[in-house]
Amino acid sequence: MNLQFIDTHCHLDGEEFAADRDAVLQRAREAGCTAIFLPAIDLASCHTVLDVCAQYPDFCRPMLGLHPEEVRADWRDQLAEIKQIINFKFQNSNFKLLAIGEVGLDYYWSREFEQEQLLAFEQQVRWAVELQLPLMIHCRKAQNELVAILKRYADDLPGGVFHCFTGNEQEARQLLEFDRFVLGIGGVLTFKKSHLPETLAAAVPLDRIVLETDAPYMAPVPMRGQRNESAYIRHVITRLAEAYGVSEEQVCRQTTENVKRVFAF
Ligand SMILES: [Zn+2]
Repeated sequence: MNLQFIDTHCHLDGEEFAADRDAVLQRAREAGCTAIFLPAIDLASCHTVLDVCAQYPDFCRPMLGLHPEEVRADWRDQLAEIKQIINFKFQNSNFKLLAIGEVGLDYYWSREFEQEQLLAFEQQVRWAVELQLPLMIHCRKAQNELVAILKRYADDLPGGVFHCFTGNEQEARQLLEFDRFVLGIGGVLTFKKSHLPETLAAAVPLDRIVLETDAPYMAPVPMRGQRNESAYIRHVITRLAEAYGVSEEQVCRQTTENVKRVFAF
């Protein structure tokens, strides 16, 4: 069986992959992965993401932005420098910046920089409007605040991904009201206690889902707890096919179509 899929969220630039990145990519290709999208999380990782994407230009595509957990007192300086990189890259017609990301709100560990997170997220949403690029969105314990900001720009945003969705039906429906956006689904789907399979089948059409690893995190069962990598998405595809009562080929075909729609890829 020849399955083909895209990993829309993978921190392949991380030091976890420094020793064996070639082998990880080889296994990804063998498993049927046809492309990997890399999100930056801060200024330093904008550079490492671009470096890895330059090394594997036929396979890896960059997304640039400031992650909410990296927003601190110096967020304005960080954003100014990241925007300079984006502008410079954007003027180079050979270069394809895929999305702004990962950006969003995260109040799970701390609300210390709550106000700064709101301001930094909104500024990056404005970049997405200005450049007409999709958003790769990270959100934890902050959905209402996030939705309130996005609503102000909904008409002008080209689309995006609510990455690592793990919410309930009501939360899914609230996010899907942004009709050019999709949910990023990864390893959590396979966890024993996860309600995600039922939630997705009840509230999320298959044409509103894209696949992701969030590697090195969130490895699916039976690799749970280990370093995640794109090849392991096969376990997510199997579980999604069960949840929707469709074939694995259908999961791959539809999610790849969704990626192409959202990312103009
Ligand atoms: Zn991530």
